[in-house]
Amino acid sequence: MNRAPAIVILGPGSLATARRIQQRYPQAQIHGLQGRVEQAEHFYESFGDTLRGLYQQGTPIIALCAAGIVIRTLAPLLGEKGDEPPVLAVAEDGSAVVPLLGGLAGVNVMAREMAEALGVNAAITTSGELRFGTCLLNPPQGYALADLEQGKRFVSDLLAGEAVRIEGHAPWLAQAQLPASDSAQRTIHVGCSVRAASRDELLIHARCVAVAVAGGSADVALQVRESLHAAGIAEASLAALLAGEADMAEPALHEAARALNVGLRFAPDADNLQAMLAQALPQASVQTVGGVAIAIADAPVDVHQVGRKRGRLAVIGLGPGAAELMVPAVRAELDRAEDVLGYETYVRMAGPLRDDQVQHCTDNREEMQRARHAFELAAQGRSVVVVSSGDPGVFAMAAAVLEALHESTDPAWHRVDLEILPGVSASLATAAQAGAPLGHDFCVMSLSDNLKPWSIIEKRLDLACQADLVLAFYNPISKSRPHQLGVALEVVRRHRDGNTPVVLGRDIGRPGQTLRVVTLAELVPEMVDMRTMVLVGSSTTCTFPRLAGGVWAYTPRWYPSAT
Ligand code: SAH
Repeated sequence: MNRAPAIVILGPGSLATARRIQQRYPQAQIHGLQGRVEQAEHFYESFGDTLRGLYQQGTPIIALCAAGIVIRTLAPLLGEKGDEPPVLAVAEDGSAVVPLLGGLAGVNVMAREMAEALGVNAAITTSGELRFGTCLLNPPQGYALADLEQGKRFVSDLLAGEAVRIEGHAPWLAQAQLPASDSAQRTIHVGCSVRAASRDELLIHARCVAVAVAGGSADVALQVRESLHAAGIAEASLAALLAGEADMAEPALHEAARALNVGLRFAPDADNLQAMLAQALPQASVQTVGGVAIAIADAPVDVHQVGRKRGRLAVIGLGPGAAELMVPAVRAELDRAEDVLGYETYVRMAGPLRDDQVQHCTDNREEMQRARHAFELAAQGRSVVVVSSGDPGVFAMAAAVLEALHESTDPAWHRVDLEILPGVSASLATAAQAGAPLGHDFCVMSLSDNLKPWSIIEKRLDLACQADLVLAFYNPISKSRPHQLGVALEVVRRHRDGNTPVVLGRDIGRPGQTLRVVTLAELVPEMVDMRTMVLVGSSTTCTFPRLAGGVWAYTPRWYPSAT
């Protein structure tokens, strides 16, 4: 189970059971039906779409409802067995735990864990599992089954009465009730060597191997594969790639780790790869083969114990506020974050966060300091998120973060895995609610003179009005700048007709949002505050009544020709 499970509930009656399951899986998040459930981490409107979405993303599902509902909902998606997340139905009162799907993803293990937490029995129906007390085809973390199809035949042979013996070290099978016999023909072989496939053998690779590589090689994955082969080691036994910190940002290394499906870790640069690897894995025996160093340990290697990971810094946009308007990549980034930095209001908007995620809330104006702090954390190997509302590149943190990096000579900052993830900006969210006021050329401006002279703002306004662009004003007014919007509107009125539509969106996508469409003649600064987005139409922007009340505002895509 790699991802945190989703606990899906339909009503408040399931909440107590959901919370008990959450005690067993603290990372699990509760998804509650909107309007019925009040306390949950996520709220959904359609049960079917939610369940299918989670299944398709590979998220383990714990549905607190009838097994039949879950089966019917997921039925259209059930294709190949094998690549699916665990799916369980749990009785609302916690009295029954039924594993439904995901046998190879550990559903029975989860069912047992949950049943234990709830003080009931799990409804296990898998024959091999019942007979042997474990799923032989789903070895624990640190071990990998060589061939699933061959494995299935092997298990049916054992169910048909064949005896088995274990070769190698398989601690998790100590508790299993296997038909063991020293003279058995069938063997469960656990090891890390390359072996020819045999019908009588269930081959399980122990992921006991780490390989240290140097940067600069073109095809690192090929080099690693060839070296492992030369050393007689199965590729599936590889648990981690290790490289020197100076090569942290090298794309070839990251591609290789992806191709080999292993973790990429980093250690302080040493004289040679063998020394570096020996230092990172002191218990293992290390050899050099084909230009790489190979370490073989006695037990599976825990990737997190080898060197450290590359730090990551993501500057994310939450969108205007509503969860549906947050892009999925941002949601996923928040889930993986170890540290979350930002203005307190936005950090709260990004929540709920888990207890293990560190929140660093700062004042809205300390942007450069916050950007530097983010790099300091990421340079230590942490996964850091800096939050902005709307889009992070629109009058927000992305530019501050890049400025901090541009100014820095610290190589560790430049090696950080930096990514900017976009969001729905306030002007776009407001425009969508009003219709399509930004349907033709438009100009985006911040009216704040905190970081630029007011004279520039007036000049740009004047030129944008001359160009007949629709105007989108961010930061239109604030307590410390109460008079400037009035001055800005004077400039606009020199060019635009009093009938020009103006859209005012306040707290769009947040509780208590308001949307008004007024004319330029009606507009007074008192209608606007710092939580308002102001969209001033061009000469072609027009409105017409909507049946539901109010008006649609839009700017046509065409423009009258000059002739
Ligand atoms: N990065 C943000 C903008 C930050 S500047 C974005 O892309 O949306 C802050 C200004 O954005 C506010 O003064 C206000 O004018 C506008 N704004 C931000 N969120 C808003 C919302 N939900 N509704 C209306 N205006 C908003």
